[in-house]
Amino acid sequence: MKINYFKLLILSAAVFSFSVVLSADEKPVIEKELLEKGLVDIQSIDASIKVDLKYSSKDNFLGEDAYGDMANCYLVKEVAIKLADAQKILGKIHPGYSLIVYDGVRPRRIQYRMWEIVKGTDKQKYVADPKSGSIHNYGCAVDLSILDENGKVLDMGTEFDYFGDLAQPRYEVKFLKEGKLTQKQVDNRKLLRKVMEQAGFGWILSEWWHFNGYQKKYVKEHYRIIE
Ligand SMILES: [Zn+2]
Repeated sequence: MKINYFKLLILSAAVFSFSVVLSADEKPVIEKELLEKGLVDIQSIDASIKVDLKYSSKDNFLGEDAYGDMANCYLVKEVAIKLADAQKILGKIHPGYSLIVYDGVRPRRIQYRMWEIVKGTDKQKYVADPKSGSIHNYGCAVDLSILDENGKVLDMGTEFDYFGDLAQPRYEVKFLKEGKLTQKQVDNRKLLRKVMEQAGFGWILSEWWHFNGYQKKYVKEHYRIIE
């Protein structure tokens, strides 16, 4: 009987300490740092936006987890609000559709880590030189796609992070004519650009998934780079 009580005590102590660990809102150090710098977790602005942080897994062109503990997507608040607007606009056009975000802020020390991984390989040209600083380093750029009502990612003609001409909006008309992109794939990209543009984002000619919350000049004047 005594032993049973003892076991019960140990068990309840273990359960208690486990539940304390679970309930404590302990964010990784890197995410706390981002919050202190005024950035926001985009899901705290709009919980319906899906997030699949590609660089926080090995499912990216590096084949390495560059983000480590960082598992959520952060942006400066003004850009996160624009993203929530884009999500609403998308929902009006296609009820059930959702944005899925692959990357937001990319602290510069992580950019250096990525730079080290690709240095001397054929992938080097696909990582921006950390010295100059990209709009992602400020938390003002976002990489994303669209999920349909069944949670399936729309066919954009290439995967995220496909670094070849087929991913470049500048060649869409050419690839459409040549049959290398279908009308549906181009229309899906156009839908993404439409909702992002209406929410105030700018798109670029080289990556269908990348959008800027502001132009670089404005970003440099109004925000600090996240080291
Ligand atoms: Zn990007």
